[in-house]
Amino acid sequence: MAASNSVTILGGGLAGCAAGLSALAQGASATIFDPARAARHRVCGEFLSPEVRGSLEQLEVWPLAEACQPALMYSMRVHFGRRVCADRLPEPAIGLSRLRLDQLLRESAAARGAGFVGERQTPVPGCVLATGRQTGAVRGDRLFGFKAHFSGPPGDAVELYFGDRFYVGVNPVEGGLTNVCGLAPESLLRRFDFSYEALLALSPALAERTRPLCQTMNWLSTGPLVYGRRAQPPGVYAAGDAFSFIDPFTGAGMLNALETGRIAGLAAAGGQTPEAYQRTVLRRLRRPLFVAQVFRTAIAAGLGARLAPWIPGRWLFALTRPAD
Ligand SMILES: Cc1cc2nc3c(=O)[nH]c(=O)nc-3n(C[C@H](O)[C@H](O)[C@H](O)COP(=O)(O)OP(=O)(O)OC[C@H]3O[C@@H](n4cnc5c(N)ncnc54)[C@H](O)[C@@H]3O)c2cc1C
Repeated sequence: MAASNSVTILGGGLAGCAAGLSALAQGASATIFDPARAARHRVCGEFLSPEVRGSLEQLEVWPLAEACQPALMYSMRVHFGRRVCADRLPEPAIGLSRLRLDQLLRESAAARGAGFVGERQTPVPGCVLATGRQTGAVRGDRLFGFKAHFSGPPGDAVELYFGDRFYVGVNPVEGGLTNVCGLAPESLLRRFDFSYEALLALSPALAERTRPLCQTMNWLSTGPLVYGRRAQPPGVYAAGDAFSFIDPFTGAGMLNALETGRIAGLAAAGGQTPEAYQRTVLRRLRRPLFVAQVFRTAIAAGLGARLAPWIPGRWLFALTRPAD
């Protein structure tokens, strides 16, 4: 694809920076708008699927990520009440805080010539839309995410604890820290006066796991969360959560953001139509989005513990990765 144009990108998160880096690599110029002028802590499980390494290599930033000494995870352990399913991951997954990951992507894009503008923008045709999850009014019991870092004994596995209407992920990140990140409906959080410690205590296995840990930052929260594809203005290259928000338990959101961002940057720089770009992305994401929705429904119906023995973790993991 020959590139000669300038690419306008709304959002300087993972998808936006990936779009900027790939557009710049094609010889286009890139301007990234984001009201947040610097990287910051984000509510995120900070579990990077093993394929993220390939995405970061393509963006030529993997050596920078490696220099942050991310944690490696070799297995997954999923707790449904007292039932535990453990499986090895096909390749080691990576634990890196969003602060470091966003920082290195922003710095790399800036160093390679991307212009950053500290402003919120409204989408125009031809822009890369990488503005993250949709916000706005949500009906019913609204869902919120929360996270904090802890010091203490780190593990080398990603652990998921499913409770009644909530789940929490525990995994190591760089610097010997452990990230604890979960999702719960507002009604449940209200019952505990938004005390996340009280929520963790609802699961005896999770309470046991977090007991020796010592909190190093205040809890952050975000929401309400809205799953699935988001309505998009016509003629834009939507990437990352702005294209679609997949359930965090899949640990595929950041992989999707980096990959769709990278492809969006190539498409915009190379003059591919937004419609053709969208078809490519839909082909890659249709299956993971569908599988995640089926499992979300099963878990919400309280079927997680019953289904767990029949669905190997490796299988669920593979089905929620994007298609090649
Ligand atoms: C609770 C929770 C846990 C998660 N855990 C994991 C996990 O463990 N592993 C995983 O892979 N994924 C996880 N995810 C998903 C992951 O965080 C997202 O998929 C990822 O952040 C998407 O990146 P993005 O670049 O699309 O959006 P974001 O990272 O949200 O970036 C969007 C950017 O756009 C900017 N912006 C917004 N509006 C405008 C505008 N109008 N103009 C300009 N800029 C704008 C914002 O300031 C922001 O910087 C989790 C998500 C949640 C909520």
